[in-house]
Amino acid sequence: MSPFEYAPAPESAAVVDIASSYGLFIGGQFVPATGGTPFKTVNPATEEVLAEVSEASDDDVDAAVKAARTAYTRVWSRMSGADRGKYLFRIARILQERAREFAVLETLDNGKPIKEARDVDLPLAAAHFFYHAGWADKLDHASLGPNPRPVGVVGQIVPWNFPLLMLAWKIAPALACGNTVVLKPAETTPLTALLFAEVCQQAELPPGVVNIVTGAGPTGQAIVDHPGVDKLAFTGSTAVGKMIARSIAGTRKRATLELGGKAANIIFDDAPIDQAVEGIVNGIFFNQGHVCCAGSRILVQENIADDLDRRLKRRLETLRVGDPMDKNTDVGAINSRKQLDRIEEMVAVGEAEGAERWDSGCELPTNGFWFRPTVFSGVSQTHRIAQEEIFGPVVSVLTFRTPAEAVAKANNTPYGLSAGVWTEKGSRILWMADQLRAGVVWANTFNQFDPTSPFGGYKESGYGREGGRHGLEAYVKTGSQL
Ligand code: NAD
Ligand code: MG
Repeated sequence: MSPFEYAPAPESAAVVDIASSYGLFIGGQFVPATGGTPFKTVNPATEEVLAEVSEASDDDVDAAVKAARTAYTRVWSRMSGADRGKYLFRIARILQERAREFAVLETLDNGKPIKEARDVDLPLAAAHFFYHAGWADKLDHASLGPNPRPVGVVGQIVPWNFPLLMLAWKIAPALACGNTVVLKPAETTPLTALLFAEVCQQAELPPGVVNIVTGAGPTGQAIVDHPGVDKLAFTGSTAVGKMIARSIAGTRKRATLELGGKAANIIFDDAPIDQAVEGIVNGIFFNQGHVCCAGSRILVQENIADDLDRRLKRRLETLRVGDPMDKNTDVGAINSRKQLDRIEEMVAVGEAEGAERWDSGCELPTNGFWFRPTVFSGVSQTHRIAQEEIFGPVVSVLTFRTPAEAVAKANNTPYGLSAGVWTEKGSRILWMADQLRAGVVWANTFNQFDPTSPFGGYKESGYGREGGRHGLEAYVKTGSQL
């Protein structure tokens, strides 16, 4: 039981103004869709319908790509970097000014706790625009190669776990480098992208530089297949990432793919154990575990495994699971029925494979999609719950005896997006970071994000980097590529 009683501290939904239905944002205007079937987006914490959203057809995607091309050739690719930077600064400031509105809307549409939308998603989304605003007039000095030029029209497809933040990761570098974009948000979380379209209008961004089309897989596929798209940037599942790579093979299109992960969070016996417990909680229970770089596998040194198990479970019993709009809530709603089904299926697999399942036993609301913080112990390398992404608040615990065994186990998945190392020894941190095949390695912390730092994967976690100077490379052509 929780040692503290918390009075409810609800955030107000009055700050957002949700329309009953939305069109598509093409050429700087909201326009009706042609032909597609509208769909509803719900609040996953209540199952209430928030709004009806348009499904962009092939013709709508074509109109969006054409608007992006016109804006690219006539305006955006010709504008000086200094002027592009001014627009990005303006967008960043508007995001800060309207942060509360965006945070509430994100929480309503996605189910994440308001304290995370408010303290993580929004500050980081604004920071991505500020950071890339600074690069817009300095691309010649970014060691990208001779005479960096934009790639052209970029198709961008983002998932539902960090809807606005992933939009910022995609749009900010693209615009800074002089590209124009057609972006598709995920079908369960389209509302903050549509509000961002209003921000583009408010910032007086030239029409067509940013186009937002809503829809599901077929709309995404129409973007991927459109001959007028020069580059694709995708974040989502490895399965869809592979389909995109197949679709564009043999064309001149480029792609960056940010896919799944199965990160190891490695705890040595000299680690500050209570801090490591906090790092585990942040690693896998942040954002309901809907995080591609989540620390979903704990590798703990065998001699402290029992102690860690006790401390972790005691801590998980204090997590407050429930209404995402309550400022005290630690773990919100699972984003969709489909994702809840996937989590339940994988947890059943874990039990059938013989791992020992524990959950925090907390009460759950009756409506909406929920899953208790869950720990599997007695997991071995061959278990599916040690190999496959669950994308929910479920962690698998494995043990090791030596650093070499920890490295071998950590690297033994198809993925390679991130990892965490907890130890007092600096030399061991450096050795581990060198050995781990992961794009990001955190030491004595987890899930730290910063726009200045490149993020991306090895193996089936995808290719390309986002953020930092490296992230610019995907959005420019240089030298012989011109
Ligand atoms: P998904 O890959 O199907 O969806 C991601 C985005 O791709 C969405 O915008 C979706 O509409 C779009 N899309 C779907 N099919 C497409 C196609 N054929 N062509 C182009 N775009 C397409 O992911 P999901 O089904 O929502 O989630 C399934 C699993 O994916 C999760 O369980 C999780 O493991 C993983 N996932 C990973 C991330 C990540 O950040 N890496 C994010 C979301 C989901
Ligand atoms: Mg929704």
